[in-house]
Amino acid sequence: MASLQVRALSVGYGPVRALRDVSLDVPAGAVVVVLGGNGAGKSTLLRAVSQTLAFHRGAVTHGDISFDGRTIDGRAGLGGPARAVAAGVVQVPEGRQVFARMTVADNLRAGALGSRAGSRADTARSLARVHELFPVLAGRARQRAGLLSGGEQQMLALGRALMARPRLLLLDEPSLGLAPKMAATIAETIREINAAGTSVLLVEQNAALALRLASYAYVLEVGEVTLSGPAAELAASDEVRRRYLGITDEDTPAPVQPRTLRRWSA
Ligand code: ATP
Repeated sequence: MASLQVRALSVGYGPVRALRDVSLDVPAGAVVVVLGGNGAGKSTLLRAVSQTLAFHRGAVTHGDISFDGRTIDGRAGLGGPARAVAAGVVQVPEGRQVFARMTVADNLRAGALGSRAGSRADTARSLARVHELFPVLAGRARQRAGLLSGGEQQMLALGRALMARPRLLLLDEPSLGLAPKMAATIAETIREINAAGTSVLLVEQNAALALRLASYAYVLEVGEVTLSGPAAELAASDEVRRRYLGITDEDTPAPVQPRTLRRWSA
C-alpha cells in the first residue's frame, strides 16, 4: 500500500496564497480526511498532490510532496499529472466530472488510459471490479453518462478512477449534493475500496460522514492546518462538533476529552 507525505507546502494562484506551510501524512492503507469550509484550500491541496495545479494557473511555491518516499513535486515542479497517475495517484475531482456525451462504458475505458492499468486482462479485471461495486454501471453501460442521476454520476466518476488502479485515491467532496442515502452508499464503497488496498485522501465539508470513514483528520482554515488528530478524537472535540457537526453543548452530554489532538499555531 502507498503512503503520502506533504511537507511545508505553500501554493499560490498568481498573487493569491491558497495554502501556507501545510504538512500532512496519509500512512499506507489509511483513510485520511481534510475538513474545511468554502475556500479553505481543500481542492488546492488535492490538485497539488495530483499535479494538476497548472491547469488552474496555480503553482507550488514552497515545500515537498512525496509518495512512497519519492518526491512527486516540489518547487522544481518535477512530476506532472501523467507521472502522478502512472505512479498510482488518481484524483476524483469535485462536481462529478464525467464525459456527459460519452457512454458509461467509454467513460470507464477512458479511466484506464495512461494509467498503471497494464494488460487487457488487467483492464478487464478492473472493469469487473467496478461493476461489482456499482452494478448500476453495468446495467447502463451503453447509455450516455449525462443521463445518469447525480449519485450514479458520482459512482461513475469513482469507477473511472478505479479503472486506473489507484494506489492512492484523492476524493474531492464525494458526498456533495447527494441525498443522505446515496452519500452513505458512496461512503460504504470508499470503505470497501480502502479495505481492498487503496489509501484514501478525502476532502469533505460533510464532517459527520467523513469522520466516520477516516482514521485521521486535519482541519484546514484559510490555507493553513489549524487542528489535526485521530478522527474519533476530532469528532469528540468541542470545536469540531460546534463548527463542523452543528452540535451545541446543550444537545449532548460532554464528550470524552481528546488526548492526542494537535493544535497548530496559526
Ligand atoms: P470549496 O469547498 O469551496 O471548493 P476549497 O476548500 O476547495 O473550497 P480551494 O478551491 O482550494 O478551496 O480555494 C482556496 C483559495 O484559492 C480560495 O481563496 C480560492 O478563491 C482560491 N482559488 C482557487 N482556485 C483558484 C484559481 N484557479 N485562481 C485563483 N484563485 C483560486
